[in-house]
Amino acid sequence: MGSLSVVEAVTVDRLVAWLSAFRDAVHEHGDYLTELDSAIGDADHGANLIRGMDAVMAAVEQSPGSAGDLLKKVGMTLVTSVGGASGPLYGTFFLRAATAAGDATVLDGPALLAALRAGLEGIVARGKAEAGDKTMYDALAPAMGAFEEALASGAEPDVAARAAADAAAAGRDATEPMLALKGRASYLGERSVGHLDPGAASSALLVAALADTLES
Ligand code: ADP
Ligand code: MG
Repeated sequence: MGSLSVVEAVTVDRLVAWLSAFRDAVHEHGDYLTELDSAIGDADHGANLIRGMDAVMAAVEQSPGSAGDLLKKVGMTLVTSVGGASGPLYGTFFLRAATAAGDATVLDGPALLAALRAGLEGIVARGKAEAGDKTMYDALAPAMGAFEEALASGAEPDVAARAAADAAAAGRDATEPMLALKGRASYLGERSVGHLDPGAASSALLVAALADTLES
């Protein structure tokens, strides 16, 4: 017996399980996300994501055929159900991931990475965030890098996702000393320094939910 890793490819049902785990995480950590957003925003990030992910799970109850169909439904639902900046940004993430995933019903590591990367590019296209601007990008970009590096060294998706989750958590923590240059927090100028970015925190939960799901 070699590796303990058993997840070679991610089915649509696994993607639904990931979304469900993220929904549970935003419920569990909603107060924490809102607390972070009350320090440098308008105290709605937890509520935004709870509303969005509850709507997502209601919308995907009849699990659609392909990964692209599923992720498109997720993106559309987030764009339409979340009022804050994070709704369109996470929505665009899933819409772009949907296009990349296309008709596939199973995503292997490289296909999953391509979908996640396309999603991140969508966030950048929409919000123009760069590294160090103190946004969700600062958690997601290192996560993608770690995922890619793990795949390149031969890891299966579950192991790569855990590396990505660790990188996302480190990326979240690294937002604390940053000066916010995008979104509502940027209105605070220097007063944004010394707080974690709420979107980076929720993104770390999103990637951790993926790792948990692929390991289970
Ligand atoms: P709002 O700021 O409209 O109240 P939320 O509180 O739900 O929306 O989300 C705030 C989070 O959105 C921020 O913490 C940040 O991570 C993310 N964000 C805001 N603007 C941008 C942007 N231009 N690019 C990437 N992420 C952004
Ligand atoms: Mg807010």
